[in-house]
Amino acid sequence: MKSEVQAINKRWHEEHKMPPNAPMDERIEWHLAHAAECGCRPIPPSVLKAMDERGLLVPTPRSLK
Ligand SMILES: [Zn+2]
Repeated sequence: MKSEVQAINKRWHEEHKMPPNAPMDERIEWHLAHAAECGCRPIPPSVLKAMDERGLLVPTPRSLK
């Protein structure tokens, strides 16, 4: 059985490189775009926390219920 959700979107990653020392706001934007385009890894807890502090809606599987 193929798992499309977990597949890495290599093309998206090639086009969206995040610098290692990117500020948190940039990380949030990157992860939001990433979550929509690619399922290779979840948003890390530190970024989720920062999103919550900014009052952003955190996309989780639970919110899709
Ligand atoms: Zn990815």
